[in-house]
Amino acid sequence: MPKPRILVLGSSNTDMIIKLARIPRPGETLLGGKFTTAAGGKGANQAVAAARAGGDVAFIARLGKDMFGDQALAGFKADKIDTRHILRDAKTPSGVALIFVAGSGENSIAVASGANARLTPADVRAAEAAFPGSKALVMQLETPLPTVAAAAKLAKKHGVAVILNPAPAPSEKLPPALLRLVSILTPNETEAELLTGIKVTDDTSAREAAQALLAQGVETVIITLGAKGAYLHNARTSGLIPGRKVKAVDTTAAGDTFNGALAVALAEGRDLPGAIRFANAAAALSVTRLGAQPSAPARAEIERFLK
Ligand code: ATP
Repeated sequence: MPKPRILVLGSSNTDMIIKLARIPRPGETLLGGKFTTAAGGKGANQAVAAARAGGDVAFIARLGKDMFGDQALAGFKADKIDTRHILRDAKTPSGVALIFVAGSGENSIAVASGANARLTPADVRAAEAAFPGSKALVMQLETPLPTVAAAAKLAKKHGVAVILNPAPAPSEKLPPALLRLVSILTPNETEAELLTGIKVTDDTSAREAAQALLAQGVETVIITLGAKGAYLHNARTSGLIPGRKVKAVDTTAAGDTFNGALAVALAEGRDLPGAIRFANAAAALSVTRLGAQPSAPARAEIERFLK
């Protein structure tokens, strides 16, 4: 079976992580940290997860013309991602996240979106050739909303299903004109609450929040519930698809792995519950390993785990 074509639009960041005893206070210099870098950014994480899960992925993004951008691009190529629609910005640095992780596990994160914030609707229109023949367009909210909306419109024009992961949590409700173009919305519990005002604590409240999102124009809602799995709701079906039991080591990018794998499974023709089971398995594998992109599993691992 040929790999299904998946389009991902979104952010790419380099995460720079310092682990130290505690998070420095304003004005304080703290020695003794351990430094690591990791490829991140929700768009890039989802593109990599989809490619490893078996998708023929094209990524629409904007990187700076700097060392971080070069490294990110090399990573995408290593995962056989189509990078023809990744723009390089000579005026703005690549996105970075500076992350402090304390011994207690508490963290503090500062993000400079850089080139991600300069991905425009015109950039999306320039990448229109990537839309026909794609089975799904996967997006998040780390790039400007007008850009996301422009891509959703193009997806509609070319009959491409839109999967929108409304993360990081939006500060206000999303425009109804955008939600009406979304086939599948995939908030986590916090995002579902922010978008609906309904606190998600159990199946009943998950269903209520999902129903409120359906009323805003979305076709299908999948609320991810961490280790519990994911709650599926649309006009035809509603229910929890339980997560897989694993020993969690690092849940960074669990949601991103879920979204990338979900897109591939749906594009291959699995039904919604089947695609969610595949995505739950991929995401569970990712939480057993450290890091964002390094933790996304390969197709063969997901299949072995599903058996
Ligand atoms: P993150 O922000 O860490 O990327 P998220 O908050 O967007 O994650 P979650 O709902 O926490 O998303 O997790 C997404 C999916 O990952 C879940 O639906 C589930 O399939 C899987 N998952 C997350 N945590 C665990 C866990 N501890 N054990 C097994 N599966 C997990």
